[in-house]
Amino acid sequence: MALIPYGRQTISEEDLQAVATVLKSDFLTQGPEVPKFERVIADYCGAAHGVAVNSATSALHIACLALGLGEGDVAWTVPNTFVASANCAIYCGASVDFVDIDPLTLNMSPKSLEEKLKAAKAEGRLPKIVIPVHFAGMPCDMARIGTLAQEYGFRVIEDASHAIGASYGNRKVGSCQHSDITVFSFHPVKIITTAEGGLATTQSEELAKRMQDLRSHGITRDAARMTKADEGPWYYEQLDIGFNYRMTEIQAALGTSQAARLDEWVARRHRIANAYDRKLVHLPLILPVRENGSLSALHLYVVQVDEMKTKLTRRQVFDAMRNAGIGVNVHYIPVHTQPYYQENGMTGVSFPASEAYYDRCISLPMFASLSDDDQDYVVAVLEDIFAGGKDARV
Ligand SMILES: *Cc1c(COP(=O)(O)O)cnc(C)c1O
Repeated sequence: MALIPYGRQTISEEDLQAVATVLKSDFLTQGPEVPKFERVIADYCGAAHGVAVNSATSALHIACLALGLGEGDVAWTVPNTFVASANCAIYCGASVDFVDIDPLTLNMSPKSLEEKLKAAKAEGRLPKIVIPVHFAGMPCDMARIGTLAQEYGFRVIEDASHAIGASYGNRKVGSCQHSDITVFSFHPVKIITTAEGGLATTQSEELAKRMQDLRSHGITRDAARMTKADEGPWYYEQLDIGFNYRMTEIQAALGTSQAARLDEWVARRHRIANAYDRKLVHLPLILPVRENGSLSALHLYVVQVDEMKTKLTRRQVFDAMRNAGIGVNVHYIPVHTQPYYQENGMTGVSFPASEAYYDRCISLPMFASLSDDDQDYVVAVLEDIFAGGKDARV
């Protein structure tokens, strides 16, 4: 029996054709497909600009650089995220600190953020950038984070790696209504894919230009921005030190094709989540909340083993599910507990809500092409486990 993964891509005939068309064309990189994909995503989100790159990690890096993060600066994110949300600040020579999550939403707690800002102001070490993460696809409380950004003078990058297709109020995540830059990931487990790939949206033309330069060696061909006289049609200038973080034409064409089904897939994820909500309610699990006033993209469906209601541990439930062919996973090991961060200032620091959540969480299969039969099997296995089925004796 094939393993049912926790997440996977959905590829159509149209996707195959879009990729084949590029392979037969003149451009495999730096052609028309990347700007087209950038326009499609920026328009979808209601942002003025989109800058496509080879991963969300690269997008986070150039977003931090574009906002001027450097040595001596501090960036804050949450422990409950993938390491890339924190690493991007280290790449810039800055240091990282964390804000704990709200145990209900599993997103950055605005209350913890405010308390930490007050203390940091008193000590004169306010963050330059705060990076909230829309965990599992559910938008953070961006209005409050945006208000705090005004009050304390920091910049905001939304790590929306989980959240393309989500909305907050009547705006799509990526509109940057309360932030400077929003970053998306198109890794195959995310909502739509370009194999590897990422994209940053912004309302600022200046930030978009900075990120365009940084993704391609710091080079510009825009005569208006050159510092010396144009020397001919071949001429370009390197204005800054940049990288090769470019997305290929093949990836962009796949992304544009995938984006056509984005809303349909988010709707399918909601039907799957609603069925889990209904079918798991009687089990000793803490089910995820979805907040009013926002629409989650539902990248993940995470349950927590409720220690008040069962003697089974998370490890026992996890192992029993893996043994039954279900590719459950754990999101996330709190970043501050990673050896690298322990060696870089995070010893003796605790973020209790992130740590308590980590001890209990299991990500169940959640992707647009998950069949009803496979989902029913996941539910039946969980029922069996908690009924004392043979795979999980206490
Ligand atoms: C996947 C992910 C990233 C990194 O995305 P890549 O495209 O693989 O670089 C960053 N942050 C979060 C929260 C993620 O889930």
